[in-house]
Amino acid sequence: VDQSVLDDMEKFEETFKGITKRFRLINRIGEGTFSTVYKAEDLLYDHYVNEWDLEEKEDQKWFSPPVKRRRTDDAGYSVANERARRRRGPRYVAIKKIYVTSSPMRIQNELELLHDLRGCESVCPLITAFRHQDQVVAVLPYFRHVDFREYFRDFTVPDMRVYFRSLFAALAAVHEHEILHRDIKPTNFLYDIYRERGVLVDFGLAEREGTDWAPCICQDHPQERRERIASSVAAQQGAATGYPKNDQRNSRRANRAGTRGFRAPEVLLKCPSQTTKIDIWSAGVILLTILARRFPFFHSADDIDAMIEIATIFGAKRMRACALLHGTVFEANIPTIGERGFSFEKIILWSTSRSGKREDGREETLSADEQQAVRFLQRCMELDPEKRISAEEALRHEFLAGAGE
Ligand code: ADP
Ligand code: MG
Repeated sequence: VDQSVLDDMEKFEETFKGITKRFRLINRIGEGTFSTVYKAEDLLYDHYVNEWDLEEKEDQKWFSPPVKRRRTDDAGYSVANERARRRRGPRYVAIKKIYVTSSPMRIQNELELLHDLRGCESVCPLITAFRHQDQVVAVLPYFRHVDFREYFRDFTVPDMRVYFRSLFAALAAVHEHEILHRDIKPTNFLYDIYRERGVLVDFGLAEREGTDWAPCICQDHPQERRERIASSVAAQQGAATGYPKNDQRNSRRANRAGTRGFRAPEVLLKCPSQTTKIDIWSAGVILLTILARRFPFFHSADDIDAMIEIATIFGAKRMRACALLHGTVFEANIPTIGERGFSFEKIILWSTSRSGKREDGREETLSADEQQAVRFLQRCMELDPEKRISAEEALRHEFLAGAGE
């Protein structure tokens, strides 16, 4: 372990009173925008496993080794052992030190949502949380995983099925609880390629569905929406050239939290009433990344750039329809944005250097397996969130159904 990391861990142990009584820090495993994460050993772990029956001391479980008489079966094996094994916490944990600059509301939100999601498939459970002065730490079971950059290029389509089955199982559980994760991306889905299992982490930006900032016309009945769009000023005059002077309209405000390159079009268009479908789009971006073997796939510096990148693929025609859906106008005079855009198949062939002609003079195509993956991708990266596949439906899609068994 690097000296600077050792210094950092020592400083944390000094400032967070009492933590060394319970945990031995092993390494620093993550440094994000909102937190530092350490791998640690739970020093009370042995007590549960070897000596004690926890039944009656449930409430003290985390701080002191509970005292109870030891029982053994005929083989001299501790009966309590078996029960404790099932009840004990994990030996290795991830301690997430949430930066003190995060607002208390935000920290509470993260812990509360994790608590609501306990027991959900493929969601990393919260073991406990502590506070010392203004510092809050969350304790999660340590989940062994491999850095996405190290494996995504080698993924076969069957590997993708298993990966996405796990990710969509997590999304289905989160969405069933009416929670939007808001930050689906490879670093927040810890995947173990050897066990072929993944867990979703980082609910720092998550929110409950329905915490809308304002109503959006995309939620209107389609007929009503068509009428409103048809009668709008923009539809009658066409898009304005230049910016209106002394614009009296309220500026559009919406939650835009998330990571550049993974934001759904409705987030970029500042739709104020976003749904769980924004997570599906982000999961689609991960699939596109793997199929195209490029990470990051989108390189946008800001939301406008991100719109340009999406528009290059989808084409101006579909972007205009998408913008209208949320009561805004899409207008672009950038030469790379064509009217019709490109198919995902073309993009994947290009980015994997298969765009030339084959020996027999015919165009290269994707394998049947890849084509199936692309059909699934199209359902995830549907511009209209209403039409986009849900996590529940995704699990039944031909691409995922039956995989990983
Ligand atoms: P942030 O809000 O700072 O992004 P995360 O919860 O995403 O915090 O954690 C940051 C990183 O720490 C993750 O990308 C991952 O590498 C590591 N990490 C987080 N939780 C765990 C865990 N339970 N097991 C192993 N590593 C973890
Ligand atoms: Mg994260």
